[in-house]
Amino acid sequence: METVTGTLYIVPTPIGNLEDMTVRAVRVLKSVSCILAEDTRLSGILCRHYDIATRRMSLTEHNSPMRIPWILQQLRDGSSIALVSDAGCPGISDPGGPLIREVVLASLPLTVLPGPSAVTTALLGSGFLIDRFVFEGFLPRKGRVRSAMIQAFHSEERTILLFESPVRLCATLKDLAAVLGPGRRAVVARELTKIHESWHRGSLGDLAVFFEEFPPRGEMVIVIEGADVVKPTLDAASVADQITVALKSGMKVKETARLVAAQTGLPASQIYQLALRLKSSL
Ligand code: SAM
Repeated sequence: METVTGTLYIVPTPIGNLEDMTVRAVRVLKSVSCILAEDTRLSGILCRHYDIATRRMSLTEHNSPMRIPWILQQLRDGSSIALVSDAGCPGISDPGGPLIREVVLASLPLTVLPGPSAVTTALLGSGFLIDRFVFEGFLPRKGRVRSAMIQAFHSEERTILLFESPVRLCATLKDLAAVLGPGRRAVVARELTKIHESWHRGSLGDLAVFFEEFPPRGEMVIVIEGADVVKPTLDAASVADQITVALKSGMKVKETARLVAAQTGLPASQIYQLALRLKSSL
């Protein structure tokens, strides 16, 4: 008889409030042969709360290279397995990414359950535009990569999300304010879904001052509003003036087109046609 291949279920779990477990997530965790957990003792709290007696096995960043071949074999042999992390979505700044990649590469069945994440929860409550956003996880603590990432946020028009620890929050807000400007609007979303949940909204500068005075505790996400990049507005008369000045200085039409295109950001071909017409009337 042919063995039916097992499925790897990706199961998000609550980020603080145990009630955020879905009915489907509980059913799947009860039905699989094994739950792969970041910290088996922590996921034990969730399992006890929902009477889930399934065997738990640890899957961490360190042991996953050793465990993955065994997991793939279990799936091939017909056992279904669930992957959870300590909180939220496995794989998002949590172990799980390499296993998911290997399961996809091996064309084994994979089912993703939708569920809680600090990323979407903070994004939805930020009040900023959320049609487009960038999530960078934890910034490097120091060094050139950190500086380059912060520099890139300066002109980033999409809403930006970062994870940060309470001990580093103030330093990160200060670094962000120094490069993005103290007036750039941001939100610090703390202890989401928990008893002491709080949302701190303001400018990067004000938030840095506030958290210096009141050092934060708990877990937090920083959400930064996208840059309001001002697009240069050009009126036809000023473009024509620039072309005329260039032509009168003795520049050729082609040179003029190149120069004014660089000055205005308009296509050189468009400037060239305009310059030809203006030259004939000089
Ligand atoms: N995989 C998780 C998810 O999808 O939410 C994220 C895990 S990451 C290791 C942990 C970080 O997520 C924390 O340092 C914090 O930045 C953020 N986080 C997790 N739970 C949170 C909560 N309840 N409130 C605010 N931030 C939270």
